[in-house]
Amino acid sequence: MLAAMSLPPTTTPSGDETPVRGRDDACPGALRLHPADDGALARIRVPGGLLTARQAQVLGRVAEELGDGRLDITSRGNAQVRGLAAGCGAELAARLRVAGLLPSDRHDRVRNIVASPLSGLDGGGHADVVAWVRELDAVLCDEASVDALAGRGELSGLSGRFLFALDDGRGDVAALGADVTLIATPGGGAVLRVGAARAGAGVASVATGWAAAGGEVWVRSEDAARAAALAAVEFLARARESGTRAWRVRELPAQHAVTTDGLTARLADAGIEAVRTKHRPAASAAPPAPGLVPGPDGRHALSVALPLGRVSAAQWRLLAGLASRSGADELRMTPWRGVVLPGFAPDDTRGALSELSDAGLVTMPDSPWLGVGACTGRTGCAKSLADVRAHATRMVGGTASGGDRQGAPDPLPVYVSGCERRCGHPGGRWVDALATGDTRYRVTVRGGARGDTPEAEDGVEVTAEQLAGAVAAARGTT
Ligand code: SF4
Repeated sequence: MLAAMSLPPTTTPSGDETPVRGRDDACPGALRLHPADDGALARIRVPGGLLTARQAQVLGRVAEELGDGRLDITSRGNAQVRGLAAGCGAELAARLRVAGLLPSDRHDRVRNIVASPLSGLDGGGHADVVAWVRELDAVLCDEASVDALAGRGELSGLSGRFLFALDDGRGDVAALGADVTLIATPGGGAVLRVGAARAGAGVASVATGWAAAGGEVWVRSEDAARAAALAAVEFLARARESGTRAWRVRELPAQHAVTTDGLTARLADAGIEAVRTKHRPAASAAPPAPGLVPGPDGRHALSVALPLGRVSAAQWRLLAGLASRSGADELRMTPWRGVVLPGFAPDDTRGALSELSDAGLVTMPDSPWLGVGACTGRTGCAKSLADVRAHATRMVGGTASGGDRQGAPDPLPVYVSGCERRCGHPGGRWVDALATGDTRYRVTVRGGARGDTPEAEDGVEVTAEQLAGAVAAARGTT
């Protein structure tokens, strides 16, 4: 269904790589700002994408008063502020600390946690994973409950790229190639997986980094968050032993992979029982489609997509205001660069959706914006050959809405990049629109059914004006 079509976040590569890292990763954070062409950039980790209305308002004010007014949502459901003036780092950090958005300076960049955005809202899944998000974040920042085994401060040594995924059993974030994944199981408890399932292969097929013996371990629900943190500790131990300074589980050499036995023993030392399991969670589920999400308790959530993952100050003020009005006092940023607003009374949904749509946000499941992404491009990135966001916007303007595609396969996602690095490109199979000049693109289908190995098929060279037609043909929507 087209309704399910959103741009998939970047997933893991093949797992064959075993790089030896000579330095720490350079991921930006709230404290480590990245100097970009349009000013400094801050990435603010938001575990599970969960914000209170007040936190959302603080983020909006930070973007308006310290940055260029816009907010980006990343493929991990984090927030990014651009255009920060030189010397504003201390004020930025102070504002975030007061709002509870920077609970630990030492753990600024390691709080990468994605979670099923509709968990507890639509009656789907097997658990409400919000409690796991809160507990895992607390364990990551405090480390007290893993202290005896890890040594205080160890988890702050995770790279800024290490990712936890907490899936409520529906199989949405379980497919995102996280390093440590919890998947809620029917009847309680969770499967704990270390290493990533290959995109398109279902979670039964795991990449290197996970035990050659196969399978995952099952843990009780009350142990799940701590078990996930201990799995990260086990990864750090194997990385240290390998001498590679690996940033991600998939980078561990096979002889230093996290094994079922090693993980089970580490959990047992912490008093956590881990049961080998053959449980196979649901195949990958679609991200929330834009529109109304009815809840079993009579309250409704609104799912909104952000064109190219970016909002203006006014759009963000509207989202934060609706989060405050809804009664739930909550806004959830999704790894598909969208927002979920829970807690609406049925009578309030129509007006709220119309406000969101009038503000230029995507509230319909057949919008031509769905499945379309772009990197920062010019003018934010010096490497960009073109203004890819402007060209992507023009391309969407020249694209018809999805209409009734019942029974038709999902169109491939498309990503417009300003250079060959293709920052933030989707996983799986996707359409690559790569700038080759100021107003020229090469359009290619990349990636295979088993993952995002960049096997390119023959492409076509087009001008920016011809992009919409070439991309539609490559996506299979013409
Ligand atoms: S893909 Fe290239 S142009 Fe785009 S943001 Fe990354 S480095 Fe810059």
